[in-house]
Amino acid sequence: RPIIDIDHVSKRYDSGTVALNDVSLQIDEGEILALLGPNGAGKTTLISIICGLVVPTGGTVRVGGHDIRKDWRAARKLIGLVPQEIALEPFESVIDCVRFTRGLYGEPPDDAYIERLLSSLALWDKREAKTRELSGGMKRRVLIAKALSHRPKVLFLDEPTAGVDVALRREMWQVVRELRAEGVTIILTTHYLEEAEDMADRIGVINRGELLLVKSKDELLGEFGKKH
Ligand code: ADP
Ligand code: ADP
Repeated sequence: RPIIDIDHVSKRYDSGTVALNDVSLQIDEGEILALLGPNGAGKTTLISIICGLVVPTGGTVRVGGHDIRKDWRAARKLIGLVPQEIALEPFESVIDCVRFTRGLYGEPPDDAYIERLLSSLALWDKREAKTRELSGGMKRRVLIAKALSHRPKVLFLDEPTAGVDVALRREMWQVVRELRAEGVTIILTTHYLEEAEDMADRIGVINRGELLLVKSKDELLGEFGKKH
């Protein structure tokens, strides 16, 4: 049974823009899926709908069997979202920031888990640092730690490497691989084919609100006659 089931989802914003048109997609537990498409394709809208932040005009989304609209609380516990922009409280320490976010989900404190989480993201030594003192790469890892603070099964990364240099991009890819090794299902958006190729098991190509195709990486590369 898929962990995420997107069934005929459409979204028309009040402005009249049709951001998604009849999108259906199932995502299995433990896979890494990249949503690949140009700016304005509808990627962020789709992620926002799955996370319950935007209401679709049609269709249904189930996360772990829970209808995102009827059973939002249960669905949301299974989901972590790393947004595009870095928004952190500048004077808060790394560990407080992650503990606070866990609290927002109504989860009891679990310092053993927080220690493991920060260690796995190479942040444990920086736990008492204020977020404003951190490098860009560390800030991004703090955002990931916040998104994982309540131990979700699915992690969404919206343009994880937008505006990031090559070294930091490699670092993000490494983090994604390590998370997958721990069994977290990962859905990321990107407008770079190279990034989709390097990180994902399956690639969904989205343009003008339409999910044009979803293929395993190997199928897609075979079709384009491209080699590494
Ligand atoms: P992507 O993430 O692929 O860049 P988005 O989902 O952000 O695409 O946008 C899809 C389309 O919907 C674009 O045409 C965008 O301008 C429009 N759009 C996104 N958010 C809103 C909004 N809140 N109100 C109106 N139109 C929006
Ligand atoms: P969601 O993930 O549901 O969008 P967040 O957990 O990111 O929400 O944050 C919910 C609210 O709490 C936001 O207004 C955010 O600015 C605030 N917030 C999140 N993390 C912290 C933090 N560490 N310290 C202070 N405020 C925070």
